[in-house]
Amino acid sequence: MFSGVRATVRQETETVSAEQKFVYDFTEGNRDLKDLLGGKGANLAEMTNLGLPVPPGFTITTEACKVYLETGTEPAPLRDEVSAHLDALERQMGKKLGDRTDPLLVSVRSGAKFSMPGMMDTVLNIGLSDASVAGLATQSGNDRFAWDSYRRLIQMFGKTVLGVEGDLFEEALEAAKAAKGTDDDLDLDAADLKKVVKTFKGIVKAHTGRDFPQDPREQMDLAVHAVFDSWNSDRAKLYRRQERIPGDLATAVNVCSMVFGNLGADSGTGVAFTRDPASGHVGVYGDYLQNAQGEDVVAGIRNTVQLADLEGLDKVSYEQLMSIMKTLEGHYKDLCDIEFTIERGKLWMLQTRVGKRTAAAAFRIAVQLVDEGVIDLDEALHRVTGGQLAQLMFPRFDESAKAERVARGIAASPGAAVGKAVFDSYTAVKWSRSGEQVILVRRETNPDDLDGMIAAEGILTSRGGKTSHAAVVARGMGKTCVCGAEDLDVDTKKRRFTTADGRVVEEGELISIDGSTGKVYLGEVPVVPSPVVEYFEGTLHAGADEEGGLVQAVHRLMAHADVRRRMVVRANADNADDANRARRYGAQGIGLCRTEHMFLGEERRKEVERLILADNDKDRDAALSVLLPLQKSDFVELFQAMDGLPVTVRLLDPPLHEFLPDITELSVRVALAEARKDPNENDLRLLQAVHKLHEQNPMLGLRGVRLGLVIPGLFAMQVRAIAEAAAERRRGGADPRPEVMIPLVGTVQELEIVRDECEQVLAEVAASTGVSLNIKLGTMIELPRAAVTAGQIAEAAEFFSFGTNDLTQTVWGFSRDDVEASFFTAYLEKGIFGVSPFETIDRDGVGALIKHAVREGRATRPDLKLGVCGEHGGDPDSVHFFHEVGLDYVSCSPFRIPVARLEAGRAAIETAGSDSR
Ligand code: PEP
Ligand code: MG
Repeated sequence: MFSGVRATVRQETETVSAEQKFVYDFTEGNRDLKDLLGGKGANLAEMTNLGLPVPPGFTITTEACKVYLETGTEPAPLRDEVSAHLDALERQMGKKLGDRTDPLLVSVRSGAKFSMPGMMDTVLNIGLSDASVAGLATQSGNDRFAWDSYRRLIQMFGKTVLGVEGDLFEEALEAAKAAKGTDDDLDLDAADLKKVVKTFKGIVKAHTGRDFPQDPREQMDLAVHAVFDSWNSDRAKLYRRQERIPGDLATAVNVCSMVFGNLGADSGTGVAFTRDPASGHVGVYGDYLQNAQGEDVVAGIRNTVQLADLEGLDKVSYEQLMSIMKTLEGHYKDLCDIEFTIERGKLWMLQTRVGKRTAAAAFRIAVQLVDEGVIDLDEALHRVTGGQLAQLMFPRFDESAKAERVARGIAASPGAAVGKAVFDSYTAVKWSRSGEQVILVRRETNPDDLDGMIAAEGILTSRGGKTSHAAVVARGMGKTCVCGAEDLDVDTKKRRFTTADGRVVEEGELISIDGSTGKVYLGEVPVVPSPVVEYFEGTLHAGADEEGGLVQAVHRLMAHADVRRRMVVRANADNADDANRARRYGAQGIGLCRTEHMFLGEERRKEVERLILADNDKDRDAALSVLLPLQKSDFVELFQAMDGLPVTVRLLDPPLHEFLPDITELSVRVALAEARKDPNENDLRLLQAVHKLHEQNPMLGLRGVRLGLVIPGLFAMQVRAIAEAAAERRRGGADPRPEVMIPLVGTVQELEIVRDECEQVLAEVAASTGVSLNIKLGTMIELPRAAVTAGQIAEAAEFFSFGTNDLTQTVWGFSRDDVEASFFTAYLEKGIFGVSPFETIDRDGVGALIKHAVREGRATRPDLKLGVCGEHGGDPDSVHFFHEVGLDYVSCSPFRIPVARLEAGRAAIETAGSDSR
C-alpha cells in the first residue's frame, strides 16, 4: 500500500498526469476502470455512456481512499475537485445542494472493485436539513415524503457516520408506530415523522455531544470519509478474508443525485436479474417494493412483490425495464443484476453489475450463453470455478426419507444443511467453535450478522426475498440459505421459532434446511449424493436432463477443460478403492501412494514392531520377509486399478514411533505389570525402543529417506515388492507403470545411495522373474535445501514431486500439525496472510523456491518430469500457480480431481489469453 502512495507522490512531482485526477464524472468513466472507480462507479459510467437513465453524479476514486486511509486525511486536491464536480452537477440539475427552496439531494455510496454487498457504508438523502426539508416538501408537494426522507438521513447518518447505536433509532421509530397503533412505517404521517425527526436529533445530540450537522457540504464530506473508513470496518475485513479479496484495494465513493422511490404509490424501488441467480433459468426475476427507498428491499424489512407484478402496477416502466435488461445482458454478455427506482412513473437505473449466482446457475448460464452464440467455450470455462464445482458435489437431502416439513421459504442459496437452531450471530460462532453444527435463524439478517453467517452451516430467515441481505451474502459465500419462510414466527429474544401449526422450536433443536427447494424440516434429514457426483461416478449419464441441464453443463465444461489443459491430473491414493474412484473421476495415474498406510492394521503393525525391535540381521530379515508379500499384494491391486497409467509409489516416510504404542499407555502397562510382579518381556523391549526413538521434533527427525539409510533392507523390501508386483502383472499381459519416489531428500548424496540400492534390487527382480521393468526413480522436493540444490538433485532423479505440505512447514517453520489451530486466526485477522499457506500456495516464499527448483532441475535434466502431490495440488488458486511455473502434473485426493481438471483447463486458457494480449 505504501508503494502506491510513493507512486502518486512521484507522479505529482514529475508529471501532471491523468492519474492525479481523484474525481470522475459518470460521463468520464467506463466499465474497465473498476480498479479506480470501483465496480459500482465503473458500471454507472458504462450505463451513462449507453444512454440509459442514470441519475447524474460523480465518483471519487479508490486512489483518494488509499491516501485517506494511509495518511488520515484526504489528498489535498480532492476538496476542490469535488467542489468543481458538485458545481457542474448543480448546474445540470438546476438545483443547489441543500437549498432551502429547491434542494438537490445526493446519495453517497461505497463501491469497491469486487462487490461486497452491504459490508460498507451508504448514506442517502444528503443535503436535507431543518431549512431544506421545507423546500423539498414544497417542490414535491408531499410533506410526508420530505419528513420521511429527513428522518432516514438522520438515522443513516447517525448510525454510519456518527457511530450512534442503530437500535436507538429503530426503537424510537417502533415507539412512534406503537403510539400510532400500527406496525407499518407508511401509517406515520408528516406530523408523526416531524416528531420522529426531533427525537432522532435528540438521540444524535445525546450520543455525540453535537447537533446533527446542518451544513450540506459538511454532511457530504463527513459521509465520504465514513465510506472511506468503512473499508476497514471489522465486517468488511471479515468479508474480504472470507471471499479472499485483497485488503489494499480500497473503495471508491459514488456521489449521485437522489431520485425517490418513496414519493407515493407511483414510485418504488426494486432489484432485478436478467436470469434467475439461483437456478440460471431465463425469465423475469427480481423484487419490487412500492413507495420505498433502496435499502428497504435489501434489508428485507418489508416483504416485496415479484418483479413480474410491476407490469400490473406500472406497465410503461416495466416494459422499459425489460428492454434495458436486454440491452445490459447483451452488452455485458452475462447475467446482470440491477437496482432501479421509479420516481413518479419515471424509471432510473441506480446500479448494475455482473450478478453473483449460485454454483449451479454459473454452470447453466455459461453453457446457455454458448448455445445462444453470445460467448465461446473458453469464455464459458473462464466463468465457472473449481470452488463452484466443489459445491455442486456436496450431498443433498434424500427426498424419499420421511421428514417433517414445517415451512417452505425461498430457495435462496442451494445446499443441504443440518444443524442446531441458533438465533444470534454470537451463539452461532460460540457453538460452532465448540464443534457444533448450527443453523442461524433470524427474522432477517443485516451486515452485523456476518460472522454468525460464516460460522453457520446454513441460514434461515422468515422475511425478505431472493435479493435480501441473507440471500445475497449466502449466495456469494456458497452457503445454504432459505429466506422469507413467512410461516415461521421467529422470536429472537425468546430464542425460538413457532411454525404455522403451533410447533415451537427452541434454540439447540436440530433442523434441516434445503436451499435448493426452500423447504425447512424438523430434525436431521438424511442426505444422498449430488447428481454431479453420480455423473462422475458413472451412475448418471451425461445426457440426462438432470436438474435442468446441470449435469450436461458440467459435462460440457469438464470436457472443454480436458481439451484445454496442459497439466495432467493424478490422484493421491494408496488403495484400490481410492484408485478406482480416482480413475472414474478422471485421474490419469497416481501421483502419490503413501506406503505407510499399507503398514497399518493389526497383523502388519506387529511385523513393523518386530522390524523396529530387531537388533540383528536375522530378526530384521524375518520381519521384512513377512511384510514383503503383504506389500506386494497391495501393489498388485493398485496396478490393476491403474493399469496403463503411472503409479508413483513413495517409500516409507513417517517417523517409526508412529507405528509403536503410545509412550504413556505403554509406560502405564509396564508399570502395572511390574506392580503385579508379572513383567512382559516384549512390552519392556518396546518401551525401551519407544524411548530410544522418542524425538522432540519428530517431523524433523528420523523419517523419509533417513529411514531407508539407517534401517537396512527396508527400502529394498519395498522396491522388491513394487517390482515383483509389476512383473507379475506384466506376465499376465497387463501394463503396470510404477515409479519409485523417495521422500524428504535434502542432498543428492542421500538419493544416490538409495538409487544404487534400488537399481540392484531391480536387476535382481529382472533376473529372477525374467521381466525387465523400466521403473523411474524420482524424489520429493519438500525441504528448502532440496529446492535450492535442485540442479544437483536432478542428477540422480528422473522426476520431482513437490511435497508442498512439508515444504510449507519447513520454509515457514510452521508445524503443519499445530499452527492452524493455534495462532493462524490471529495471523489472518492481522492480515499477515489472507489464507493459510497450507491451503493455498505461498507464491512469494514457497512458490519462489518451487520456481527455482523447476528452473535448476530442468537445466540439469531437460526431460525432468515435474509434479506436485501436497494438498495444494487440489486447491484452485494453487493449480493456476503450478500451471504458470510449468509443472507437468498435479496430484490430489480423488474427490478433488474434477476441481483440479477444471482449474488446470481454466489456467491454460487464461495464460493463452494473456499471451495473446
Ligand atoms: C508433502 O509433504 O507435501 C507430502 C505430499 O507428503 P506428506 O503429506 O505425506 O508428508
Ligand atoms: Mg511430506
